[in-house]
Amino acid sequence: MNEDDENLTDVTFEDGKTITAKYVIGADGARSVVRRMAGIGFTDPKTGEKGDRITNLDQMVLADVVYEGKHNNGMEFSGTMSPESFFLCVPLPNSFNDFLAKNGQEVQDQIYRIGAGVPLVDGEIPHSPSKEYLQNLVDRFGPTFLSSNASVNPNPTPVRIKEVIWSTRFRTHSAIADKTFTRLGGDELQGAPVGADKITTKHGGIILLVGDAAHIHSPAGGQGMNLGIRDAVFLGEALVKHINASASQPSSVDADYILREFGEERHKRALEVIALTKNMLSFMGMPDKKISWLFPISATTVRDWVMWLGFKFSFMQAKMAWAMSGLGRR
Ligand SMILES: Cc1cc2nc3c(=O)[nH]c(=O)nc-3n(C[C@H](O)[C@H](O)[C@H](O)COP(=O)(O)OP(=O)(O)OC[C@H]3O[C@@H](n4cnc5c(N)ncnc54)[C@H](O)[C@@H]3O)c2cc1C
Repeated sequence: MNEDDENLTDVTFEDGKTITAKYVIGADGARSVVRRMAGIGFTDPKTGEKGDRITNLDQMVLADVVYEGKHNNGMEFSGTMSPESFFLCVPLPNSFNDFLAKNGQEVQDQIYRIGAGVPLVDGEIPHSPSKEYLQNLVDRFGPTFLSSNASVNPNPTPVRIKEVIWSTRFRTHSAIADKTFTRLGGDELQGAPVGADKITTKHGGIILLVGDAAHIHSPAGGQGMNLGIRDAVFLGEALVKHINASASQPSSVDADYILREFGEERHKRALEVIALTKNMLSFMGMPDKKISWLFPISATTVRDWVMWLGFKFSFMQAKMAWAMSGLGRR
């Protein structure tokens, strides 16, 4: 990217094509090239609270698998939680098979998406976890009716993974861009109160970030895509305002308070979502230790009771649904 004299930016693609743009929007994911080229930092917003603790759910696997024999069909959604991990098994609609199968191969069997937390004491998860690695997780953390161990599986025939269609590993860390809006070459007004700028000295082209380019966090609560879509919706409004305001100002820089306001608002929202996901992860992945010698019961047992009791009340269900929906922090 090159800054030119008129606050425009040249963006050059791999194939050599160059586009000159007034607005460059980095919607290019967690490893954003736009963010990096604009020199915007991307760090974990540590809060110093319990949400920053390392939990049992700091690393996870996700895979699409098919099971052997008669178990390859008819299993419903199942999920378990244990002190060290969680396990999920979700049957995917058969109409997805063609998209999920690799190298154009045909998959007739029912595909299940499985996910599990891997305790840190197990060490780093291998790249593209194998069938054996996944089977071990199913046997340790999955429901007994999915176990390959005949001595624990209540069914006459134990269940085994037949094939791994796709598997991955990821660590659940959070990061947020230092700023969502800047101008190439530095935004001198950073930190100035919104609307207070009247400086029209030369600035570079406009850079904006949305979605994972601006913030990442754990998948707890499925918030990431939704937050990114909200960024994009509000960016649309901000751009329209900026374009209109620029048309009546001597310099487009005079209208930058609109983009700065947008950036600050989205930064605030992202911080809220990161705090929510950190706290959820900390709650779900709390270590299984005794509360105290006076009260010899494990913290995870208390957590499970609290969840069991809490979700009996409709107002708690509604509160959680509201928090997950993101409607309260658009
Ligand atoms: C395991 C897991 C589960 C999740 N579950 C949920 C969920 O249930 N609900 C939810 O809301 N969110 C969920 N998320 C988060 C969600 O997937 C992301 O927040 C969302 O995909 C981010 O969208 P994005 O468009 O910002 O970035 P991305 O989806 O990463 O898209 C960026 C795009 O930019 C392209 N790109 C990158 N660099 C360049 C370049 N230099 N030139 C051209 N193109 C480039 C990439 O190819 C990609 O297509 C989950 C994430 C994970 C990891």
